[in-house]
Amino acid sequence: MWTVATYVLKQRMSGTKRYPLVLMLEPLFRCNLACAGCGKVQYPPHILKKQLSPEECFAAVEECGAPMVSLPGGEPLLHPQIVEIVNGLIARKKYIYLCTNALELKRRLPEFTPSKYLTFSVHLDGQREHHDFSVCREGGYDIAVEGIKEAVKRGFRVTTNATFFDGTDPNSVRGFFDEVMAMGVEGIVLSPGYSYEKAPDQARFLGRARVRRLFRAILSNRKKTWKFNMSPLFLEFLMGDRKYECTPWGSPAYNIFGWQKPCYLLQDGYTETYKELIETTKWEEYGVASGNPKCANCMVSCGYEPTAVIDGFGSLKGFWGMIRGTFSTYKDEHALRLLNEPAPHGPASLVQIERPSHAYEETNA
Ligand code: SF4
Ligand code: SF4
Repeated sequence: MWTVATYVLKQRMSGTKRYPLVLMLEPLFRCNLACAGCGKVQYPPHILKKQLSPEECFAAVEECGAPMVSLPGGEPLLHPQIVEIVNGLIARKKYIYLCTNALELKRRLPEFTPSKYLTFSVHLDGQREHHDFSVCREGGYDIAVEGIKEAVKRGFRVTTNATFFDGTDPNSVRGFFDEVMAMGVEGIVLSPGYSYEKAPDQARFLGRARVRRLFRAILSNRKKTWKFNMSPLFLEFLMGDRKYECTPWGSPAYNIFGWQKPCYLLQDGYTETYKELIETTKWEEYGVASGNPKCANCMVSCGYEPTAVIDGFGSLKGFWGMIRGTFSTYKDEHALRLLNEPAPHGPASLVQIERPSHAYEETNA
């Protein structure tokens, strides 16, 4: 927390208008799952075979200077040099969130060394049935939980990372929070899904009003045992208590195509350098206020959590809001009533979408 606080203060004192908080460094797009809401694994095979080299990863990290690095994908544990990448980032004192579906986690753990800089952020979208439905894979939950428990046992920092779509049952999510905290994880990360144009199941995405209703039901009247590895102000934004605009440059994305304009979710072109990304992107064309239809329903963490973090560390009022939010249980009678409403679409059935035959390939290409 203090690393981020001092970083934000330094940027403000130096008068920098746009600065990154988390680099979204995607070392590859291929994955050993094919989730229905994923916008990454639909690339053609020749793209899925490509990956960033460790040197390309280090150059991007040094070029942008963000104090935190998120390693999403694809599945980073399928990258044959992922250990070298992680160790190089630790040597650079970057706080790393290695996002994994954990299918390979237990097997690969002996290759990593616990560090305060390394957190495994395990993709877990809810209780067993909900997670298996979400990732289109029966048994996915049990494997991920085994990986989490082993990582905790070996002294690694572990968080869980959930994306919620339409049809999510808030009661089940609250039960899920109890389950993951009992596994010994440090905290929970959550976000509504983004309606990727390439994702196969478009019907599952939530509009803004439904996002606020869902998260108000989930996050009000919360238990003291639940820990969230996120800005409390961002959670208040999801619950509809705060109005924020997007800060897309707060989480710049770098992958095999270059620096992605304007954010991790949209692809309006690429630049070769970070400087070019910051200087040539027409930032005013993004965010809800811009009227851009691609941004109209977005409340995703990579765009709005940087706004919340900058708000929290940028003023005494914001800082006080963060402290208050950390210790509040958000008592709310109306939200309790929302929990008693029937689940939006009744019980879901598991949809197994076809996994591309190249999904498990590992290559140095
Ligand atoms: S785990 Fe699912 S959401 Fe994540 S990269 Fe793989 S297919 Fe996409
Ligand atoms: S609103 Fe969402 S999609 Fe639009 S720029 Fe921000 S993060 Fe990207």
